[in-house]
Amino acid sequence: MRSIQHHINGQRVDEGNQKTQAVLNPASEEQVAEMQLATSKEVNQAVAAAKSAFNEWSEASIAKRTKLLYTFRNLVLENEHYIAELITEEHGKVHSDARGEVARGIENIEYACGFAETLKGSYSEQASSGVDVYTIQQPVGVCVGITPFNFPVMVPLWMFPNAIACGNTFVLKPSDRNPSAPEYLIKLMSEAGFPNGVVNLINGGPETVNQLLDHDDVDAVSFVGSTPVAKHIYESGTANGKRVQALGGAKNHMVVLPDADIDLAADAAVSAAYGSAGERCMAISVVVAVGDIADTLVSAIAKRIDKLKIGPGMESDSEMGPLISQDHRSRVIEYINSGEAEGATIVSDGRNHPTNQRGFYVGATLLDNVTTDMEVYRDEIFGPVLSVVRLQSFDEALDVIAKNQYGNGVAIFTRDGGTARQFQKNVQAGMVGINVPIPVPVGYHSFGGWDDSLFGDTAMYGPEGMRFYTKQKVITSRWPDPTSSQVDLGFPQNT
Ligand code: NAD
Repeated sequence: MRSIQHHINGQRVDEGNQKTQAVLNPASEEQVAEMQLATSKEVNQAVAAAKSAFNEWSEASIAKRTKLLYTFRNLVLENEHYIAELITEEHGKVHSDARGEVARGIENIEYACGFAETLKGSYSEQASSGVDVYTIQQPVGVCVGITPFNFPVMVPLWMFPNAIACGNTFVLKPSDRNPSAPEYLIKLMSEAGFPNGVVNLINGGPETVNQLLDHDDVDAVSFVGSTPVAKHIYESGTANGKRVQALGGAKNHMVVLPDADIDLAADAAVSAAYGSAGERCMAISVVVAVGDIADTLVSAIAKRIDKLKIGPGMESDSEMGPLISQDHRSRVIEYINSGEAEGATIVSDGRNHPTNQRGFYVGATLLDNVTTDMEVYRDEIFGPVLSVVRLQSFDEALDVIAKNQYGNGVAIFTRDGGTARQFQKNVQAGMVGINVPIPVPVGYHSFGGWDDSLFGDTAMYGPEGMRFYTKQKVITSRWPDPTSSQVDLGFPQNT
């Protein structure tokens, strides 16, 4: 069984006699790792290590930082199979999906490798007579990352490569449900040759997070997780004077218009709703069927569900694995019960599927005739449950999406370019797919929703990530002709 420890100042910290937590394989329910929970002293040590590494690291040349990031990127690539195995073992998602997660994470390291280009700043020569004005971007200091269980590798990689590229140092607090893969990333950072203390890792729960939020030496906090926790992180982090970006939960709609290719839309709905057992913040959880296509669409989706192979993520023919925990499984089943009680039609019922197997499984579930007042529509379920809401018009679809609490991702399926463009312009969400069901932006754009899906002003990774991890400084400079100096008490004007 693996033993998961903290990594502070380049050392694996193993003090032994402290609190631990079991990490389970959700497909077998067996324990696969034992994780140490940080003491308050260790949290302080991790922040102190990041703080003392900051001066030297922020002074490291662009060439040195870039070279180390490239080395790290190559190590992650060389070990992608193993990292994906760790993800599958502790998260449950199928191995091909876990490899996809690693690949999307690598994209973010690659973007960070190009930081020299991104952080060039700007220069205005002769803004006034003999005066030049230029902007430079400097690191913020000690940055903290708090990450969710559903992307144990990709989400940390959204954060720390960009943060350290900008010259910051970092403390990562990954999810306590699947800590092995993030711990492995930190080992690869040491192997790549990053100086001690540049990236540290501590494991723990809410207490550890709250200590980080209160810590005077933490300058910025990046968070990804559920909306209530995101709100708490944003409120207490900013109240303590920190820079905070906190990404929350989601309820992503996929609008299917009457002119859409129904097979394409049904394939997309099934992939986006049931991939990773619906445990993706960009999963489609509501299909909005517009006009008279609803019956055809629902039956096309149901036919595809019947063929899905559900099983352990390491079996090569499995397409959907288990949920993360028994508690979460029970919660998802409660939601299906509530949808049934509130009048939704259960087209495919995953509550008892499969019955002969250990593991936290819920089968793919399809609920039709869902209305926006039902709990199953309003709440983020984060499981393999897809609701179909039937509406009569495109405008009604836009209105329903606008009224939803969340605004993360959204998709439209249509053959009409004009309507798609109207959708892109007017829909109230941060990431839009046009005939693309999961529009997760590439690493050189930025990821972020609207409304209760993001608290703060900057989205994550890409250009917005770089902005979050830097402070802007504007310099106005004159090297005057020493013969023409004079006192002038007026407000500076540009001549
Ligand atoms: P979570 O909010 O339970 O946990 C996220 C992190 O916060 C973990 O590291 C956890 O240890 C910590 N935490 C949990 N409760 C806390 C508390 N009371 N105080 C302080 N810290 C606390 O989320 P999760 O269950 O790990 O992940 C699933 C959620 O994350 C879903 O809601 C999903 O939509 C969301 N998510 C959002 C995005 C996005 O980009 N918007 C991406 C991935 C996941």
